[in-house]
Amino acid sequence: MSAKNADGEKPPLRILLCAPRGFCAGVVRAIDAVERALEKYGAPVYVRHEIVHNKYVVESLRRKGAVFVEDLDEVPNCDRPVIFSAHGVPKTVPQEAERRNLFAIDATCPLVTKVHREAMVHAKRGREILLIGHAGHPETIGTMGQLPAGAVTLIETAEDARKIKPRDPSQLAYVTQTTLSVDDTAETVSILRERFPSIVGPHKEDICYATTNRQDAVKRAAPQVDAMIVVGAPNSSNSLRLREVAQRSGCRTSALVQRAADIDWSTFANIESLGLTAGASAPEVLVDEIIDAFALNYRVSVENVSGPAEDIFFPLPRQLRDDAGE
Ligand code: SF4
Repeated sequence: MSAKNADGEKPPLRILLCAPRGFCAGVVRAIDAVERALEKYGAPVYVRHEIVHNKYVVESLRRKGAVFVEDLDEVPNCDRPVIFSAHGVPKTVPQEAERRNLFAIDATCPLVTKVHREAMVHAKRGREILLIGHAGHPETIGTMGQLPAGAVTLIETAEDARKIKPRDPSQLAYVTQTTLSVDDTAETVSILRERFPSIVGPHKEDICYATTNRQDAVKRAAPQVDAMIVVGAPNSSNSLRLREVAQRSGCRTSALVQRAADIDWSTFANIESLGLTAGASAPEVLVDEIIDAFALNYRVSVENVSGPAEDIFFPLPRQLRDDAGE
């Protein structure tokens, strides 16, 4: 694309950079866990599932010696570390690792582990559990897998919430995936609360601070721009939600892109303003790459649309801390 005008000058483009954006504390911890394991134990380090949903991150860890597998079957019997991804795993996975005497390191985000614990407490108290989430997402599989098959029912849509027929409505609880749309989840929860007034759930929902803050920033920027770009992977739940939020907040053009090379310039020609954000697993270097790509075609000025500062930090998994015994 060349957006130059008749005088050969690039047209101006105001980029509104959403903040916070990009890496959350759970993603930082998971990536640090793989890097620290590589430093401490050398390569290879096995990682079950993409440590976070971002190709750039996965490829850079692969170059350093991480070997990504989808199942423990692909890990040979050895003393190499096997790291579980930030999304969490069903209970059968650590059980299988223990049975095979593998050196397992759990990089599940503590905010996902918190949801696992909530589900287990509900089950202990004899409650039927509804999980508001997306079928097939690793986090959903991990949360459902904390309890025996059939103990957790997945609620994907408001329609599911309207139709669900619990065994005993007085013994009902819900938990949620951490990366959902705040607005959709509020609707689903309100349907459940209206139908089952005694349903037990978290004080807020289980949607994490990072998901909420990134969606709020997009809500602020979207009405002010002609188009919005979300940097993130198509299998990243929180990135997909950011694009939906942009659309619903009045942004007529939006795209989820992994790299600058993915930008469809016919869509982003002749705009005067652009919102830019990144999902929780997308590194800042990719945001810079997008700005640089627009700067080739436009005279870019960048403004921040800032929300709350984030200072959440999760310590590394126990085995990887400096004070950990061998
Ligand atoms: S998006 Fe939220 S729950 Fe998921 S890894 Fe990041 S902080 Fe944890």
